[in-house]
Amino acid sequence: MPFDHLEFDCHESVSFHNDEPSGLRAIVALHSTHLGPALGGVRMMNYRSEQEAITDVLRLSRGMSLKAAAAGVSYGGAKSVIIGDPRTARTSDLLEAMGSVVESYGGRYIAGEDVNIGVPEVGVMRRRTQNVLGSAELGGDPSPFTARGVFSALRAAVKHRLGRSDLEGLRVAVQGVGKVGATLVECLVAAGATPILADADHARVSELAGRLGLDVVEPERIHAVEADVFSPNALGASINAKTVPELKATVVVGGANNQLATPQDGRGLADRGICYVPDYLANAGGLLNIVAEYEAGRGMRPYDGGQVEASLETIGDRTAELLTRAKSIGEQPDLTCDRMAYERIRRMERAA
Ligand code: NAD
Repeated sequence: MPFDHLEFDCHESVSFHNDEPSGLRAIVALHSTHLGPALGGVRMMNYRSEQEAITDVLRLSRGMSLKAAAAGVSYGGAKSVIIGDPRTARTSDLLEAMGSVVESYGGRYIAGEDVNIGVPEVGVMRRRTQNVLGSAELGGDPSPFTARGVFSALRAAVKHRLGRSDLEGLRVAVQGVGKVGATLVECLVAAGATPILADADHARVSELAGRLGLDVVEPERIHAVEADVFSPNALGASINAKTVPELKATVVVGGANNQLATPQDGRGLADRGICYVPDYLANAGGLLNIVAEYEAGRGMRPYDGGQVEASLETIGDRTAELLTRAKSIGEQPDLTCDRMAYERIRRMERAA
């Protein structure tokens, strides 16, 4: 039961949705709506078990609340998971049924893209609800915004840990060159840094490396190459008991969600003097753009691309502030960040 689940974190609701005709089986977790409507993407995966899906949705929805709180926006956090094979089960009927599920929350939940649910799928869900963001007509893919936000966090962390304002010749080991990783690599190259790449998809990484003249290493080795920065942009848990002792970099900052396999791995990084930027602080750029789209769609303020780009820079400011604060109180940055985000949510909870 979710109440007894290790990842349960006083979520406001966890709902199971079943639609026989389309075969939709989905779980929606609303972690918190204290700061405002809960934002969170829809992920479709062939989960090995219902337990695995529940764990994922509980963790990811909590992460969205912390991300929104840390980014300083007045929104809560949620997430949906659809249990099923995206290659065979991701039909229009199923996506429309998911759109109806989102609609049933009456605006308390605003959905968007996530793994295996991209711009086209969001477009189908929008046939049943306006409460889903990131479709083609609204500006589409949030990944470039996420990547530019990570870049801003990286610059701040390099300044904090290495005392450098420029990135000339900085060696950055980039794990994963998908939508976020590839844009980050382009930003790094433009700033004079030297990324080293790895991706499980050989064709993808070879194309990017060939185009930009960069080195590639095997995915198993990327965390351990000689580098100033390690940037995880693939899947979660890449900072773990095996990789922490092998890291050569003194800064870890990237776009992947849930980078620390366990909270002890944050301690492990701090003990080795490695500066870690909490994942949800660094990867909030896509969320900031989604918020701008949402508010424009509701007539709250016009969409202003320049303002969104400026807001991505605040991710660097927040990173610098967090790292300075964590250092001054001798705490791991991930713990300081969690505490500050929870404090903001609890303040609103008490005010409600
Ligand atoms: P993506 O699927 O486009 O890219 C992920 C890449 O990682 C793929 O190229 C894949 O082949 C590669 N990969 C998978 N396993 C790997 C491994 N073991 N070693 C090396 N490479 C591996 O996904 P994305 O949209 O770029 O997202 C990347 C990460 O950032 C994910 O963790 C995602 O949850 C997170 N994130 C993305 C966004 C966004 O706006 N897209 C926002 C916040 C967080």
